[in-house]
Amino acid sequence: MDEFYTRVSNVTKQKLYQYIKDNSTSLLDYNFRDFFHYCIQENKIQVMSHHFTNHKIEGLTIIDQDGISFSYERDNPKSKQNFTLCHELGHFILNHSGTCFTESVDNQENVLEKEANIFSAVVLMPNIVLLSKIYYSCENFQKVQTSLEVSKQALYFRLLDLLREYFPDKEGQIKEAVEEYIERNNASIHNFFHTIKEKIIAEFNQYGPSLMNQIRNRIDEKGFVSSQEIPELLYQENWANLKENIKHLKIWLVYNKGKQRAYAWDSLKLSDEQARKKAELQLLLM
Ligand SMILES: [Zn+2]
Repeated sequence: MDEFYTRVSNVTKQKLYQYIKDNSTSLLDYNFRDFFHYCIQENKIQVMSHHFTNHKIEGLTIIDQDGISFSYERDNPKSKQNFTLCHELGHFILNHSGTCFTESVDNQENVLEKEANIFSAVVLMPNIVLLSKIYYSCENFQKVQTSLEVSKQALYFRLLDLLREYFPDKEGQIKEAVEEYIERNNASIHNFFHTIKEKIIAEFNQYGPSLMNQIRNRIDEKGFVSSQEIPELLYQENWANLKENIKHLKIWLVYNKGKQRAYAWDSLKLSDEQARKKAELQLLLM
């Protein structure tokens, strides 16, 4: 398998796996939509449908003074629209330079188009999700295809590409395994996944939730968090950034008998006094 595929798929996984970890997304319930919406909101991207009577244009990205917008052909099947949306997002996340990207059947050989296609395939069908569904949960091809909202062809090629990355000299056997899997015989594809499962998991587990997201999640849930749960909260160099990015957040320290504890709270949910008491109590109970 070419290095090109590996390079683009690694960049995609960096962004996506960090998102999955930050949000504790369930791997068996994974669907590209949450990640897609997160990226759209974070970057203020507009998404709409289009229809041109004379031209077959699958997707369009326009970047101008009004901002960024993606559009997709409204007469295409849902699975094709999903592929197009993730493809357009790929141009953006992979920092392709340009102000307009047009998808049609004629431009699929272009390098940037190929990169965006790989990005799309990985976001729709991440390695760790395919491993979970196919190997651990023994889901059949049709079920995986339906739950990820992709076409039969897209899942077929994605499985070939994924396995080729790990088994570059087994082209024939890979094809056979995927074709058997479509026919509801999963023995060979299981064997392949069995051999590479540790690698896929180790790659996924390189990522952990960021400090910002750990704190945000705790604050959303309980309104309070301390360095007992998240020790990095003690590092004051992080405070300014946290306060800037999490609404109504306050952070302070308490000391008792040489021990210290940092704590953060949502100032709309707890008064300064209430938060300090909680932190002091934690210190006393240590
Ligand atoms: Zn494109």
